[in-house]
Amino acid sequence: MRPKSILVTGGAGFIGSNLCLRLYREGHHVICVDNCFTGDLRNFGDAYREMVLSGRFEFIRHDVTEPITIEVDEIYHLACPASPVHYQYNPVKTIKTNVMGTYHMLGLAKRVDAKILLASTSEVYGDPQVHPQVEEYWGNVNPIGIRSCYDEGKRVAETLMFDYHRQHDLKIRVARIFNTYGPNMAIDDGRVMSNFICQALRGEALTVYGEGQQTRSFCFVSDLVDGLWRLMNGDQTGPINLGNDREITMLELIKATEVAVGSSLEIVHKPLPQDDPVRRRPDLSKARNLLGYAPKVSLEDGITQTVAYFQKRLKELDENPGPVRSRRAPVHAQ
Ligand code: NAD
Ligand code: UDP
Repeated sequence: MRPKSILVTGGAGFIGSNLCLRLYREGHHVICVDNCFTGDLRNFGDAYREMVLSGRFEFIRHDVTEPITIEVDEIYHLACPASPVHYQYNPVKTIKTNVMGTYHMLGLAKRVDAKILLASTSEVYGDPQVHPQVEEYWGNVNPIGIRSCYDEGKRVAETLMFDYHRQHDLKIRVARIFNTYGPNMAIDDGRVMSNFICQALRGEALTVYGEGQQTRSFCFVSDLVDGLWRLMNGDQTGPINLGNDREITMLELIKATEVAVGSSLEIVHKPLPQDDPVRRRPDLSKARNLLGYAPKVSLEDGITQTVAYFQKRLKELDENPGPVRSRRAPVHAQ
């Protein structure tokens, strides 16, 4: 494949850093734009120095709520905090990031004639009344709740994408990403996978919100990155669901975590956050049939790899605490 110049917004974050690494290793010139709210350049680990010295990786500290002009062939637009704890920290900023950020990236794509992919979310389905979720479902979203800055923000972002496509003939791709986990998740992320694993490794009780019967379907990050790549390089506009369609309850996730860490775990129940979706599972027919997408990493293997990653990160933190925001897995503010 011809080397391309590729912009990844949110490229220092969890999914973004994994995506930047894959694109860099394919030989492309990768430009990572990030304001480092939840991202961290340390996500590139030992590869960072090599990437910068190669001249094929650039980091620009920039907030996508402001415009930017860069000559690129493709844009993967991921910038936006994804954990409920983080996106609810400053909800006005979250909706500005989704709306203004996407508007600015579309303006850039139009100006330099780049193809642009939006990292949208299963949250556009809200607390779904159709199960599993198909792309044709319009969702059940509370427009004024505490998740709305993210859910409605992404819905407007999708609208902007399709309006630019229809009005300006822009080449767009829209991915609806379901719960993803794996290396480079932040310790202070607040999402269930990082909370459970870090709590287990610290010998703390696992915080189960509600009865733990709510379901999610967890996708390992390398599979998700492969889906984004296939979508960008295929001929489908989307929206297309990307994730893993094995659905489990949070109590089942605890059992899987127990196997991965090799011990039985205490749990403590906390109140269920407002508007927490009861169940979620992607219908992946479109991704499988139109993109040839097939998630490969089992939940068991993925959790084992994620446990190893967090073990390493927690050890590094013990040895060198550094400017870390928080060493505790945050529990959702009620
Ligand atoms: P993350 O929080 O680890 O990464 C988001 C990145 O965006 C961070 O590096 C952050 O610093 C950066 N960012 C946030 N606001 C910004 C701004 N205004 N300007 C520039 N950079 C900004 O989250 P993630 O899990 O890697 O998610 C990446 C994308 O995928 C997000 O758009 C998210 O909505 C989407 N997504 C993720 C999941 C998931 O399960 N991880 C699920 C659905 C959708
Ligand atoms: N959750 C939990 N304990 C935690 C964090 C989350 O039980 O410490 C629950 C949360 O209520 C939700 C599910 O796990 O039902 C997934 O939460 P997460 O924040 O990871 O993702 P999202 O709700 O955005 O799918």
